[in-house]
Amino acid sequence: MINNRKTKINKKASPQEKDTSISNIIERNQFILEGTNDGIWDWNLQNGEYFFSSKEETVSQPSRKIDSLEGWKNLLHPEDKVKAVNILEDYLVKKVGIYQNIYRIKKSDKEYRWVLSRGRIQMDQSGKPLRIAGLHIDITEEMESKNKMNQQLYQLAYYDPLTDLPNKAKLNVEFEAMYDLNKSDQKVAIFYIDLDNFRYINNLVGYELGNEVIKNISKKLKEKLNKKFVLGRDSEEEFILLLFYDHERDLYKEANEVLKIFRYNQFLTGHQICITASIGIALCPEHAPTFNGLLEYADTALYYAKIKGKNQFRIYQESMREFAYKETSYMHDINEALQTEAFCMYYQPILETVKEELVGFEALIRWNDAQRGFISPCEFIPIAEKTGQILQLEKQIFEAVFKQVEHWKKQTNKRFFVSINLSPKGLINKGLVSFLEALVKKYYVEPSDIILEITETTLLEGIEETLAVFDLLKQKGFIIALDDFGTGYSSLNYLKELPISKLKLDKSFIDSLLVSEKDQYITESIIELCHRMNLKVVAEGVECEEQRDILLKLNCDLMQGYFYCKPKPVAELGSWIK
Ligand code: C2E
Ligand code: CA
Ligand code: CA
Repeated sequence: MINNRKTKINKKASPQEKDTSISNIIERNQFILEGTNDGIWDWNLQNGEYFFSSKEETVSQPSRKIDSLEGWKNLLHPEDKVKAVNILEDYLVKKVGIYQNIYRIKKSDKEYRWVLSRGRIQMDQSGKPLRIAGLHIDITEEMESKNKMNQQLYQLAYYDPLTDLPNKAKLNVEFEAMYDLNKSDQKVAIFYIDLDNFRYINNLVGYELGNEVIKNISKKLKEKLNKKFVLGRDSEEEFILLLFYDHERDLYKEANEVLKIFRYNQFLTGHQICITASIGIALCPEHAPTFNGLLEYADTALYYAKIKGKNQFRIYQESMREFAYKETSYMHDINEALQTEAFCMYYQPILETVKEELVGFEALIRWNDAQRGFISPCEFIPIAEKTGQILQLEKQIFEAVFKQVEHWKKQTNKRFFVSINLSPKGLINKGLVSFLEALVKKYYVEPSDIILEITETTLLEGIEETLAVFDLLKQKGFIIALDDFGTGYSSLNYLKELPISKLKLDKSFIDSLLVSEKDQYITESIIELCHRMNLKVVAEGVECEEQRDILLKLNCDLMQGYFYCKPKPVAELGSWIK
């Protein structure tokens, strides 16, 4: 029980005053209030006296009792003061309805309590305000839990839960807070960073470790980047950086720094995973004055960086838009070429190394466009993959090759295999097996006449399903070769996991043979390993006699390259066939 059932702060108050005051009501109702966190207050507007029920001592410290409006103001939390005073003053001006205010008031030097204050003004007959009196309710617990919930909601709305980095919405807010359109000398750049082949890494290590990689990357980026950056995370493998810079050369420096962070760090202990990133950069005010506008331009630049080989940065340029436009127009032309069968196949001989005898061909697509001339498959295959046109294109390729193999078999009575490149985005997970079976029935071709060349990227899309397709193809008698070994990740694991019979050493390997002995040792070891696993090795891009001689010495089984013959149309391969 608190001793002072009734407290009068202003010692100068007269006895009459006390009688007429609301304090007797306070006394009567005190027992009800004892069981609650509430208190009653009464502020005499005539003489400035302030009364409050004893329970109020839980709210304001007795030694710092309030005896005037100023006294009350002094106890308010600095953050709430202006608003709380405004509400009170507003009420004093309007003098109608219920006064209601929420603020924090000092309980002790260390503690503030949240108070809901409700009251009403009393006026004499002439309309002159006499007092405001009402109830104080301690709502500290409710407010704290509400604030906590608000904080959680804020965190969810503005931060990425995995890395705690600001998300796109928060970066937008930050950008608007920091960038002042009226200051002409301010320069801001947006870096849109996308991890290269992250889906492959997720497939390789699983989602949980994939998340670990993302967390470690975000930690390293935060650690290494200086304060000029604001770092955020967009979607799964995308980060956004806001950079305030002075000179363009700083942009290049910082972009290279970011790429280096990826190059020189490991993001998953115990795994030799090499992670690279591509960056698209847009500048403010040159490209756009808003965050979302900049992001759009940075995205175009990022797309360009990816197309141009990944692991690099690009600053937005108008020509990149044209590039995107060119793609759309390509799409239209590919469609037309598909209808008119304007694509045709070239074949490049593959020879057995020791006897230098023709054993097969690699089928390589060619597109001779009426306006553009010869277009490299490196240019149009990625577009066809993106637009989905690769499906129809691949059907035409298979049909053409099977027809050709049948023709050669009937014409020469000799057996050559023909290698066909499989796109990871093509028929592989969309009915390839039944399509090939139908072709085997239609043409005088056996599955073992056909080699399907796959690359590591073929496995990027759903590893389990893809492996199952390869297993089935092998069972049916088709031969599978791993293409471009030596580029990308060159995981030796693939040699074990994939049902392959051949491995194609990429041209970069063959080129390095003439450069260093070390490279020869590596190539020799790979060839030896393949032989132990019953795999045949094909050297790609053999261009000169010295390379041929080294490969012969290293026991490489098969060779292909300009040294023997460039890819040619069938009509020009007569002498090879004979
Ligand atoms: P790839 O599968 O690695 O094909 C080998 C590429 O190396 C071919 O380029 C070939 O012409 C070239 N090449 C062969 N020997 C030499 C040499 O000694 N020196 C040099 N510098 N190059 C040599 P091409 O025909 O331009 O094809 C490029 C890539 O386009 C292919 O690389 C393959 O990934 C893709 N591609 C080509 N045709 C097809 C196809 O029918 N379907 C699919 N999905 N992709 C194809
Ligand atoms: Ca190939
Ligand atoms: Ca290749």
